[in-house]
Amino acid sequence: PFVASIVPQAPEDPLFGLMAAYKADTSPQKVDLGIGAYRGDDAKPWVLPVVKKADDLIRSDPELNHEYAPIAGLAPLTSASQKLMLGGDSPAIKENRVTSLQTVSGTGAVHLGALFLSKFYRTVYPSTAIYVSNPTWANHAQIITNVHLPVATYPYWSPKTRGLDIDGMLSALESAPARSVILLHVCAHNPTGVDPTQEQWKQIAEVMKRKAHFPFFDCAYQGFASGDLARDAWAVRYFVDLGFELVIAQSFAKNFGLYGQRAGAFHYVSAPAAEAQDTTKRVASQLAILQRSEISNPPIYGARIVAKVLNDPGLFAEWEENLREMSGRIISMRNALRGKLEELGTPGTWNHVTDQIGMFSFTGLNEKQVGLLRSEAHIYMTKNGRISMAGLNTKNVEYVARAIDKVVR
Ligand code: PMP
Repeated sequence: PFVASIVPQAPEDPLFGLMAAYKADTSPQKVDLGIGAYRGDDAKPWVLPVVKKADDLIRSDPELNHEYAPIAGLAPLTSASQKLMLGGDSPAIKENRVTSLQTVSGTGAVHLGALFLSKFYRTVYPSTAIYVSNPTWANHAQIITNVHLPVATYPYWSPKTRGLDIDGMLSALESAPARSVILLHVCAHNPTGVDPTQEQWKQIAEVMKRKAHFPFFDCAYQGFASGDLARDAWAVRYFVDLGFELVIAQSFAKNFGLYGQRAGAFHYVSAPAAEAQDTTKRVASQLAILQRSEISNPPIYGARIVAKVLNDPGLFAEWEENLREMSGRIISMRNALRGKLEELGTPGTWNHVTDQIGMFSFTGLNEKQVGLLRSEAHIYMTKNGRISMAGLNTKNVEYVARAIDKVVR
């Protein structure tokens, strides 16, 4: 028989199905709260002014060509993204125990990390699973299972408090087999918008250190969450300071608005040790082989823009300004939505809308309410009640609040 005859129909990707339904809706009042991409107050995609400027500078270079990037990617990108993630004065960088590769955005970085662990970590610790938060970004589980690693979960979201289930999380980390891989969102957790506090991160690190767990950080929103690059990277830097061996997947999709350009990086950080420099070199050599067999060379266009901005102090300062504009607009929409709901006396508490951070809010709306918002008010969000805060603006926030009020009553 043909191979195709045994291939079953796959379910539609829920997010892309939602996008298609939104597109097909002809109501002028429709609101897209599904897609995880920034929109300005005019509901349109926003090209960051600093990205436009860097792009113009790059294009005006008469020497510009389209040769392959090195296998590990553009060196100005990888070296600057290390500093961005770990801090310019990171001892790990100074001690040459960090190795970085440019990847196909954050997805490619998560994949490369999972592939690396599947190939090497698994051979020493065969029963290793990767633990992901419940819930987590919808793509994590399939990226991990694609490389034949088992996925397990740790509790994260408490429906009762609409915040972090820190006790559940800590006890799951405690009872996981020693040397498990724990995937952690660095900031602006997707889909809940709930991040541990610094005190809670310290508790998480304490259990993980004691159990010799392996931290796998996923950083898709640095600077986009609080508007402050260092604050958003705090957890990673704290774990590095504690001497963990760890990996980081870094995306420039959201914080540069370069979604389709696929710019990102993967970092491996060795624990401090006399032989750390040598082990890091060996890791780099193996990562290069994995990269070669997967993509050969990463895409250059978005990476050039990011590298230009990260390596130019003037552009960097402008970028920070752009980040504050995006995160500030989102925070003001959180305040506006909560304010309207409280003004309307909508049943329930709404402080979680402003307590949560980043692109998303886990509203606590149930599947039925989500369905009603779509059929009655043309408001689109994922079934789990997650809304993209960037879809709200000064023109539609009251409309959305009134519609939520109606379905909650
Ligand atoms: N991890 C998380 C948690 C995310 O939310 C995203 C973006 N949705 C990514 C990784 C990667 O996205 P990209 O491949 O577009 O960088």
